[in-house]
Amino acid sequence: MNISGKLATLRLPPLPTIGEIIKLYNLKAEKQLSQNFLLDLRLTDKIVRKAGNLKNAYVCEVGPGPGGITRSILNASVEELLVIEKDTRFIPGLMLLNEASMGKVRIVHGDILTYRMDKAFPAHLQRKWEDDPPNVHIIGNLPFSVSTPLIIKWLEHMANRSGPFSYGRTQMTLTFQKEVAQRLTASTGGKQRSRLSVMCQYLCNVKNCFTIPGSAFVPKPEVDVGVVHFTPLIQPQIEQPFKLVEKVVQSVFQFRRKYCHHGVAILFPEKQRLKLTEQMLMSADVDPTLRPGGLSMKHFQNLCNSYRELCNQDPTLFAYNFREELRLKRLQREANGRCQK
Ligand code: SAM
Repeated sequence: MNISGKLATLRLPPLPTIGEIIKLYNLKAEKQLSQNFLLDLRLTDKIVRKAGNLKNAYVCEVGPGPGGITRSILNASVEELLVIEKDTRFIPGLMLLNEASMGKVRIVHGDILTYRMDKAFPAHLQRKWEDDPPNVHIIGNLPFSVSTPLIIKWLEHMANRSGPFSYGRTQMTLTFQKEVAQRLTASTGGKQRSRLSVMCQYLCNVKNCFTIPGSAFVPKPEVDVGVVHFTPLIQPQIEQPFKLVEKVVQSVFQFRRKYCHHGVAILFPEKQRLKLTEQMLMSADVDPTLRPGGLSMKHFQNLCNSYRELCNQDPTLFAYNFREELRLKRLQREANGRCQK
């Protein structure tokens, strides 16, 4: 083995514990920023193992904070670790980890919601979409207020093969509030089946790996946490533009407990509603009295294809927005009310 090979397999030298780092740099968790830290390195190792074999991998960790997961990633013999952290207080502790790992950590002080992931790693890592996933991984324990909008944004990137997915089928291991993790992975007919389940599963193989009790975090959050692993599918289960799929799925789940035809109906302006709803359900071969949670991926695939056909026949349909119509009607009523006073 050459010297660089030997260095790649070295574990981190003895370092202050994460608890000591928190004291040393006065890193009190900011409640408004929903900061909850993992100090138990057996747990952070377990999260990192769920990402798969990281030997010589290029990893991006989002929200490293005091660096518990960061240490576990470095101990997995990665080639390079890019960390993106919004809170400046954590930067000195991360610089310490960079020194201990002999320069493997690239620190970005920034916001993951705006960071350009398509330029994050060397171009030679790019793989064709149909190939095995690239040696690029994303790992993170972010605040729940960030992880949910971020996964929706990244699902759109996945559909468009942009952002982190410009490298190919980049795998991700991320934490969510336990109930969100259940929604992401719920199957047809499951109690937690929702818009998020369909949006995620039409694009990815998704696995709810394990649950971490809230008591494992400092300070303890109100909820438990689910660790979820995502691998983009070579062939999405619905082959329509992301925005179209999003519109259909969102409309269908608008009335979760009602028959699905109620949700389908709001895709259409009032005048055409009855006729086009019937036409769309018929051509998609979907029983109008199924509940949204009982619709399979095949049902959604058919619904999206039928909606696309209707939009091709009448290109003004896609711009129709039921919620916007409701909002305008409400404003009109308020304006009328003011005139009458
Ligand atoms: N990963 C650490 C751990 O497990 O102990 C910290 C977890 S804490 C729940 C979330 C971390 O994400 C904090 O360090 C916080 O400052 C950071 N963070 C929050 N929003 C962020 C954003 N938009 N971009 C990057 N980092 C963010």
